Amino acid sequence: MSERTPVIAGNWKMFKTNTEAAAYVAEFLELVVDAGSVEIVLCPPFTCLEAVRRGLDGSRVRVAAQNMHFKAEGAYTGEVSAPMLNEIGVADVILGHSERREFFCENDADLARKVGAALNSGIRPILCVGESDQEREAGGTNVKLRGQLEGGLAGVSAGQLSDMLIAYEPIWAIGTGKTATPEIAEEAISFIRGSLADQFDKVAAARVRILYGGSVNPGNIGALMAAENIDGALVGGASLDAAGFASIVKFG
Ligand code: PEP
Repeated sequence: MSERTPVIAGNWKMFKTNTEAAAYVAEFLELVVDAGSVEIVLCPPFTCLEAVRRGLDGSRVRVAAQNMHFKAEGAYTGEVSAPMLNEIGVADVILGHSERREFFCENDADLARKVGAALNSGIRPILCVGESDQEREAGGTNVKLRGQLEGGLAGVSAGQLSDMLIAYEPIWAIGTGKTATPEIAEEAISFIRGSLADQFDKVAAARVRILYGGSVNPGNIGALMAAENIDGALVGGASLDAAGFASIVKFG
């Protein structure tokens, strides 16, 4: 039995106004009072972060941002920094989501700086990695994953690895309804763990929690969570509905 506490995180992407977020939080908190031993994270857009965090005060649910800049401040129009997130009580930050990599040209070198800035500020990074359809079909999944881990974690020490989360999110499974089978997800995640053992050490790799993301829903979460190396889920679309997300959180 793994000693890694499961984590279920809901990435709202660019959905929900403050009014919608407040209604969600009220409904969701009632539904997860009896959830078992699982860490729960909500990742709203920047505009709702503080209100959601306030709404969750006193609960077990953590709040994450979906991105941040690596500098503490500066002339970077449209960006938000770690100290700004820290001050409003944001606990975690998603970094390197494939939508950020694809639409906002984020690369592994940027991500290494962001991961370092988050760790130095006490914000837990959730670093996303994953291959495209074409990369998988060409047999390049492991090369892609290893490259993203080596690049994105370039400044991280073995001791810091367990202060963060890794999310394996195959691009072909995100928002497509095409979930990786538990076997495919387990194979990739155990490759990631092995790769981290090479990059850091076996103890650090065994401790870090690695989530699966890509079309997770209430019907497939149980089978995914039964896999040995899958320590949780990063959920996009299915996290937008409070009742649906609560049933994912209560997968056990
Ligand atoms: C995501 O955005 O991280 C994600 C996994 O999305 P979805 O669950 O909608 O595939």
